[in-house]
Amino acid sequence: MAVYSAPVIDKHGGWLGIVVVMHDISELIRLEKIRKDFVANVSHELRTPVTSIKGFSETLMDGAIQDESAAMQFLEIIHGESGRLEMLIEDLLDLSKIEKEGYVLRLQPVNVNEVIERSVRSISGRLKNREMTVEVDYPHELLIKADPERLVQVLVNLLTNAVSYSKPGTLIKVTAAETAGMASISVTDQGIGIPAEELPRLFERFYRVDKARSRDSGGTGLGLSIVKHLVDLHGGTITVESEPGKGSTFTVSIPLADK
Ligand code: ADP
Repeated sequence: MAVYSAPVIDKHGGWLGIVVVMHDISELIRLEKIRKDFVANVSHELRTPVTSIKGFSETLMDGAIQDESAAMQFLEIIHGESGRLEMLIEDLLDLSKIEKEGYVLRLQPVNVNEVIERSVRSISGRLKNREMTVEVDYPHELLIKADPERLVQVLVNLLTNAVSYSKPGTLIKVTAAETAGMASISVTDQGIGIPAEELPRLFERFYRVDKARSRDSGGTGLGLSIVKHLVDLHGGTITVESEPGKGSTFTVSIPLADK
């Protein structure tokens, strides 16, 4: 609570009383904390790869460059860490773009099956690398009101997570159905799952269940917050059900297009 007070005096200088103004600033403090946490997180996430790039390049300059196999190994690390920086910067720019006031989606009638097909196609390389398959249960023709590029981005994010947090050779299922004026698209994996107590914070920026594993899988920790924001902009919802050791299902619901 912030309290301001000032005396109230009449035009002859006579004392009339005191005016006290009280502002509830708890929301402002909460927002300021979120902003500070975000800046601290971004700095930390940027520092980790930069430290590694700097360290390995210094080792190369100090003589490791003479040892061909060590040099190649260090260069691969430097290359990988630069890639991580690039992804982080891209995700940050994307998040700031879609969170800006006035950002509008290019909403149009979109066929759900087409969006699913495009999304699965775009992760086919990753699927092949991990010998995983996606089984799609297409609905009858469903038209939703969506921005196709952004909806593909949502599904690609969910599918990429499904691949990253599952064992090679397992199956991912994508199903779509119509429920109460919405189309719901579910992505189900047979992966590591998420403990129930972690679920409420899953869509927060930089929130990770297992930090080491997430970094190893190349994640920035921003994917699900971007997904949630895009789904909200569509006037939709996203839910998650998960069982550790069994797998997870993320379900996105988007309003149907006007008939
Ligand atoms: P990241 O880039 O780390 O994958 P996300 O925002 O996409 O970040 O996801 C946040 C965290 O949620 C991940 O670090 C991971 O711990 C967990 N997670 C997301 N999707 C899945 C999934 N399908 N199975 C298990 N854990 C998941």
